[in-house]
Amino acid sequence: MSELTLISKKVCMLGDFAVGKTSLVRRFVHNLFDDKYLSTIGVKVSRKTITILRKGQLIELSMLLWDLAGSEEFDRVKANYLRGASGAILVCDLTRLETLENLDQYANGFFKNMPDTKLILAANKSDLTDERQVTESQIVDVANTFGIPYYLTSAKTGNDVEQLFRHLGHLLVNE
Ligand code: GDP
Ligand code: MG
Repeated sequence: MSELTLISKKVCMLGDFAVGKTSLVRRFVHNLFDDKYLSTIGVKVSRKTITILRKGQLIELSMLLWDLAGSEEFDRVKANYLRGASGAILVCDLTRLETLENLDQYANGFFKNMPDTKLILAANKSDLTDERQVTESQIVDVANTFGIPYYLTSAKTGNDVEQLFRHLGHLLVNE
């Protein structure tokens, strides 16, 4: 019988204020959604372990999910926050086009300084169909520019949240 391999990876949540970074982590880790507004203070690290099959071998991947407050905060703590990250989830809000355009700022640092980091895009709040401001083809354009996969997620309904994190998990172990 093959033994279980344990791997631990740091993943950073990145994106503008209120796009749903904290809510996505909360949905994935605790399967909960909270409509109350609680802005994150400082950094919070949550852990979720998933099992992945790689070349017939079972891998226990412990994802250490780093989450922090808005972009103002990000500029100040950037280097410390990103250090040692193997992956990142770039999050935008489907009801605010500028949050998609701003993803550049977060992604650039990775392409320049940490080219081995695996990135994935989450276009969040897919449940807010009436307020939607971003088309899927605009998301495809950005994802293609970065050369990364994307998902339309809802931290509220849970739609495609598990798929998003698991896809990144696969990228993290299949290197
Ligand atoms: P963060 O600043 O990126 O961490 O964003 P939060 O996770 O704090 O979410 C900001 C606001 O958007 C909160 O009021 C959340 O309840 C709400 N929110 C987050 N994700 C979703 C979603 O998928 N759908 C809807 N309708 N609201 C969401
Ligand atoms: Mg937050």
